[in-house]
Amino acid sequence: MSKEKSAPAAAPTPPVSNFIRQIVEADLAAGKHDGVTWGGQPGPAAAHAGAPADPARIRTRFPPEPNGYLHIGHAKSICLNFGLARDYAGACHLRFDDTNPEKEEQEYVDAIVDAVHWLGFDWGTHGYFASDYFDFMYEAAQYLIRAGHAYVDSQSAEEMRASRGTLTEPGKNSPYRNRSAEENLDLFRRMEAGEFPDGAHVLRAKIDMASPNINLRDPALYRIKHATHHRAGDKWNVYPMYTFAHPIEDALERITHSICTLEFEDQRPFYDWLLDKLAEGGLLAKPLPQQVEFARLNLSYVVLSKRKLIQLVQERHVDGWDDPRLPTLVGARRRGYTPEGFRLFAERIGVAKADSWIDYGVLEECMRDDLNARALRRIAVLDPLKLVIDNYPAEQDEECFAPNHPQQPELGKRAVPFSKELWIEREDFSENPPKGYFRLFPGNSVRLRYGYVVKCTGCDKDASGNVVAVHCEYLPDSKSGTPGADAYKVKGNIHWVSAAHAYACEVRLYDRLFREPNPGAGGRDYLADLNPDSKTLIKACLEPALKEAKPEERFQFERHGYFVADRVDSKPGAPVFNRAVTLKDSWIKG
Ligand code: ATP
Ligand code: MG
Repeated sequence: MSKEKSAPAAAPTPPVSNFIRQIVEADLAAGKHDGVTWGGQPGPAAAHAGAPADPARIRTRFPPEPNGYLHIGHAKSICLNFGLARDYAGACHLRFDDTNPEKEEQEYVDAIVDAVHWLGFDWGTHGYFASDYFDFMYEAAQYLIRAGHAYVDSQSAEEMRASRGTLTEPGKNSPYRNRSAEENLDLFRRMEAGEFPDGAHVLRAKIDMASPNINLRDPALYRIKHATHHRAGDKWNVYPMYTFAHPIEDALERITHSICTLEFEDQRPFYDWLLDKLAEGGLLAKPLPQQVEFARLNLSYVVLSKRKLIQLVQERHVDGWDDPRLPTLVGARRRGYTPEGFRLFAERIGVAKADSWIDYGVLEECMRDDLNARALRRIAVLDPLKLVIDNYPAEQDEECFAPNHPQQPELGKRAVPFSKELWIEREDFSENPPKGYFRLFPGNSVRLRYGYVVKCTGCDKDASGNVVAVHCEYLPDSKSGTPGADAYKVKGNIHWVSAAHAYACEVRLYDRLFREPNPGAGGRDYLADLNPDSKTLIKACLEPALKEAKPEERFQFERHGYFVADRVDSKPGAPVFNRAVTLKDSWIKG
């Protein structure tokens, strides 16, 4: 349940220890990476020392592939990698893993840069592209061929699949496995020169086709691809495989701890094999990076797969990559979620070695806790019904004073105008109230928050019996903050906005995009689990101060939740608002 009233301010907490921190601390204590600087590589690798050497003793990296927008899962990885660098006086690199020429775009690079900055992290001079290392990788591949650790295979993809074996049966050696180093070098260079079509040959590591670990059964290192790369253009006709490129990128950047998700655990032996071989050949220096795996974030009520996110956007189930309902970071930002809330979330969920699911409510609670501490309070009527104070002079208005933050009196108060006709919430009036209803009904008195006590006298209805206005009378000596006001004891306390002064605007009430915790579970089409009520547009009446809200300013609308002025659709003097999160978790069952 929400702890709205008692939530402590989301102060930065000391980091909780976890198995990765323990590894880092042990390596620091042992001095494993002492004296190593960025660019401290021998031979051809030295050419890649593009940034000033810095002596960080631990060095991590966040290595997104620029083929999509970052999502909440990436935020976990970003907070982890940059957080370690921050806490241990290290460095964290932002490296674009752009080894696949076909799917990558500058648009994604720009969006990723923005998202990491928005989360509050900075890589200084350590921003890199895997494609900057293509020359070195090409040299490394040739070294492996010369040393007898790689060969060109000319089997078809089908033949390679068939000879790979299974989990229980060993694979079979390729008939091309014993080509001479000269022949391999010649073929590989001709692959690069563009002499062969895609798929004609593949460069493979020569390890062990009988290894119980399938990833060590002569994995592919380079493939032919006649494609234009977003940065390297048409320079290359061969491109490195991710599993070959990634360890090399880490080693060239002198990454100390290469943190990745669990599905790469079985790749670690190849990661180590490759770097050992290149170190033996003098192409890389020790100490080599160490791969450390952690459990990826699985979050209920969302999908984090890139393929599904792309489908949601392309088939227009949502309004673009920054739709506030999407778990993308651009979406979350528009939604009103905060970087501080994400960092709090990363701390709270921690880092573990085993997969688990985190309930979406945990993320919402982090956003509430952060926003509760910082968001100024404002008044908004989301479902307006007219309240007429019959004994209040028609031409008169006056000011009432409302605190900007009840727990932080130093943030002061603001004036809200009061007049004869007000907007109140439709649900705050009931002609035939249920038991325990303390708000407006004929004969009952309530306090208009920060204003007067009023007594309900009746209501007007239209021809079909709908209530169109409520009538009441106010008690002139009951105004909040004036002597004697406390003498009036009433059980109900409702919020209101002066009709003559209200700022009427669009408010978007966002809710969870999926109505099932695990969309698509049990073989269902995940699209069938979309929540049809995830977006509701309403016309609301807001206190006039909100007219001046700047894009991305966040507020608590009293009794309703946290809202943000939309950063895309707001105009100066005419903001529109998105609901980030309600005050309480309405999804808790029972
Ligand atoms: P792809 O299937 O395209 O590889 P990806 O989600 O792994 O998708 P990357 O760009 O490769 O995307 O991810 C960058 C980094 O973010 C990787 O180090 C990856 O481990 C990490 N990451 C991705 N998804 C999650 C997640 N759900 N939880 C934690 N870390 C994640
Ligand atoms: Mg990946």
